[in-house]
Amino acid sequence: MSLFDLTGRVALVTGGNGGIGLGMARGMAEAGAAIAVAGRNTAKSEAAAADLAKLGVKTAVVTGDVAEEAQCRRMVEEAVSKLGRLDILVNNAGMNIRKPPQDLAPAEWKQVIDTNLTSAFVLSQAAYPAMKEAGRGKVINIGSMTSIFGASFAPAYSTSKGGIVQLTRSLAMAWAKDNIQANAVLPGWIDTDLTRAGREQVKGLNAMVLMRTPMGRWGVPADLAGIAVFLAAPASDFITGAAIPVDGGYASQI
Ligand code: NDP
Repeated sequence: MSLFDLTGRVALVTGGNGGIGLGMARGMAEAGAAIAVAGRNTAKSEAAAADLAKLGVKTAVVTGDVAEEAQCRRMVEEAVSKLGRLDILVNNAGMNIRKPPQDLAPAEWKQVIDTNLTSAFVLSQAAYPAMKEAGRGKVINIGSMTSIFGASFAPAYSTSKGGIVQLTRSLAMAWAKDNIQANAVLPGWIDTDLTRAGREQVKGLNAMVLMRTPMGRWGVPADLAGIAVFLAAPASDFITGAAIPVDGGYASQI
């Protein structure tokens, strides 16, 4: 098998129906992986799955809310039953509530933490038996620049993304003996529905991103395809517990 060939592998991608998740799913499908597209909006997931199927791979749609433990467990079961196995889990679904800490309600804090962080723990736990039995697995967790930096307008979001890195390291340590690698991807500013809303809500954000990003542009979902293939493929079999920025140089700039 070539280093980057995903033929015969099955990936479950939460939030795979749009934005970064679909960009990553497209990369892995191009490398031969079957994709289970997970999200709450079934019509959107079906459209994404149909798009991915044009690349010649099997696809499935699993609908559910990752903030709900039982739904996470059911989504993993459905992915395995529809596509026959599970080799790759991409914990990508996420959301933000943009308010300063003094204004964020505890219920809003919980909603963000449950969606962005607890989901990754529960889904990984649910995926573990299938990966252990197969003798290999890849968990890819999506962090953020707020895994590294603070964000005055996103206290719960940045806490969830900091937690994603530590969760990734703990999964990596626990499951290395099972030949399961867990790594995090830290995207910079990527043009998606999520950040389009942010651009409207946070004054000066667009200008800040363009000035602060050495490559001088917003990323696009396709910029995340390569790292997804790499972290899902045999090429990364000795890499685990890493947190890799895909950010046009943002995190390296003072
Ligand atoms: P989008 O808003 O474009 O996509 C979010 C995806 O997550 C959608 O597919 C949505 O599907 C799914 N989703 C959201 N909430 C839930 C839920 N409760 N249950 C199931 N699925 C859910 O955002 P992005 O593509 O920008 O973001 C993807 C990930 O990347 C997030 O974790 C985000 O924090 C992270 N990120 C994004 C950056 C950016 O600049 N865009 C930068 C750094 C990190 P549906 O609506 O069908 O549920």
